[in-house]
Amino acid sequence: MAKNVEELRTALRTRGLRATPSRLAVLELLRAGDSPVSHGEVADRLAAQPWDRATIYRNLTDLSECGLARRTDVGDHVWRFEAVTAEHDGAHPHFVCTECGTVECLPEIELAVRRAKAPRAVRQRQVEVHVRGLCDACI
Ligand SMILES: [Zn+2]
Ligand SMILES: [Zn+2]
Repeated sequence: MAKNVEELRTALRTRGLRATPSRLAVLELLRAGDSPVSHGEVADRLAAQPWDRATIYRNLTDLSECGLARRTDVGDHVWRFEAVTAEHDGAHPHFVCTECGTVECLPEIELAVRRAKAPRAVRQRQVEVHVRGLCDACI
């Protein structure tokens, strides 16, 4: 645990961010999760802590801007945040349940672009891929 916190502190400091208690808690929460979470979900999970929701939102934004986290909108106009780590980096697709709204990370896939006419962003893989369907609980 102590080693983990030290690692989080170093990650923040090497990106020029002060390792405030709320930033550490938000980063730790994102790293512990295996799917993207919304600001509301993060705030709910840290509700026992003294920080207000605006502080937590700023922390999420700071972490995204410095590259320790990534923001994704899977199409419901809600920003969801996930940690960027060595094991969980690069753009990967997300699965979105059309029934309950659950979002899950999917393994990286190679986007096979056969049409030369595809937009440049697609050819350069600068796109987000969202897959929709029913999750195991809803099927
Ligand atoms: Zn579902
Ligand atoms: Zn993800």
